[in-house]
Amino acid sequence: MSETPIEPRVVEAFHYGITPERISAHARQVVGRLQDAGYTAHLVGGCIRDLALGHAPKDFDVVTEARPEEIRLVFRNARLIGRRFRLAHVQFGREIIEVATYRAAPTADGGDGDNVFGTIDEDARRRDFTINALYYDPVEGLIRDYVGGLADLEARVLRVIGDPEERFREDPVRMLRAVRFAVRLQFQLAQHDDRLLARLGPLLHDIPPARLFEEVLKLFQAGNAVANYQALCEHHLFGVLFPPSAPYVGRDHRDKSVLMHALASTDQRITESKPVTPAFLFAALLWDPVHEAAMALIADGVAPAEAWQRVADETLQAQLKIIAVPKRFSVPMREIWALQSRFDRRGGRQAFRFLESKRFRAAYDFLGLRAQAGGADEALFDWWTRFQEVDDKERQAMVETLNEQPEKRKRRRRRSRRSR
Ligand code: ATP
Ligand code: MG
Repeated sequence: MSETPIEPRVVEAFHYGITPERISAHARQVVGRLQDAGYTAHLVGGCIRDLALGHAPKDFDVVTEARPEEIRLVFRNARLIGRRFRLAHVQFGREIIEVATYRAAPTADGGDGDNVFGTIDEDARRRDFTINALYYDPVEGLIRDYVGGLADLEARVLRVIGDPEERFREDPVRMLRAVRFAVRLQFQLAQHDDRLLARLGPLLHDIPPARLFEEVLKLFQAGNAVANYQALCEHHLFGVLFPPSAPYVGRDHRDKSVLMHALASTDQRITESKPVTPAFLFAALLWDPVHEAAMALIADGVAPAEAWQRVADETLQAQLKIIAVPKRFSVPMREIWALQSRFDRRGGRQAFRFLESKRFRAAYDFLGLRAQAGGADEALFDWWTRFQEVDDKERQAMVETLNEQPEKRKRRRRRSRRSR
């Protein structure tokens, strides 16, 4: 990009509630040391956006005109990383401050991903959204705005820098970032064309599947899963990411699907700082197609274990081409699916053995979602809940009662279904 340099709008940062005390002391120190060494240096990106909006930043990124080797000379505690884009990590105990050199957009001809260093205004223009391209100098207390990010912050608008179609084509992941930021910040997407994301969505199939896996986790494991799912559906991106689940999208608006319950429960767990796992998430994301296909095979007389395995193989084969779910998640994910039919088998020692198995808990939690969504017997779920809570003697009694009244259970279920 060899456009004429643009002059920034410069404002006092305190107008936006940004003061040096709100910045990590180490990040301030990094900027100060670079400036003392004669280089310009700023904080940039998500941290400035979040501070201006009153949120706590996740991390603090520094950009400077110093080249990576020069950065290393300034800091003894700096390490150069990255092959495509070399940048420095400056380590202070457990905190790492990332320091990057101003970059220009890669040129269409020679841009094979190597470092293309640039000026600060070029660095601003190669970023994705205007609100992500604000530069803050904590020493002077100034914000430099090259692309109108401050006005967009005030208007709560998420605007692509430059021509949206061009920038989405250049990196289709920006579409997912657009959805994610619009949802998280509750900003309006500034686009001339409402159908732009729907139209360009299929370009996501050109993205390396490992990168999409990371993006999907940011969408669904950061506390906004339900809202992100709805926004992705609205822009016809969900079906692009999860082709096996695409035919089920319309049906989810009853808020009744296993997927919706899983997403809501993920959000809840994040709020409570409880752990979440991609295995469970992906099991839910693909549950509808997997369940339906497995049931169809079983109805055709295929043995359940084989049916689940076949369906899991086929579904994952299609899905993994787009999103690379690592084995350590896809293996337990298949188990969660296949184990759903084991809850029915409770006689003899079966219930005891299942309870002891490593995957019981995840499979049980999944059964809970299915019960909530109306897709599994609630009485069965309650039985397993109780089975975990009581001692061994009572467990034995539970299994024995079960043997005595198989008929009664069936009748009761039938009656209650008819009376609905
Ligand atoms: P988060 O809080 O999710 O980390 P962030 O804005 O810090 O938000 P990062 O992915 O950490 O997002 O990226 C840091 C900055 O790098 C962004 O603010 C943006 O300026 C720039 N950036 C990141 N990804 C892209 C992209 N795909 N295209 C252009 N610029 C990008
Ligand atoms: Mg960030």
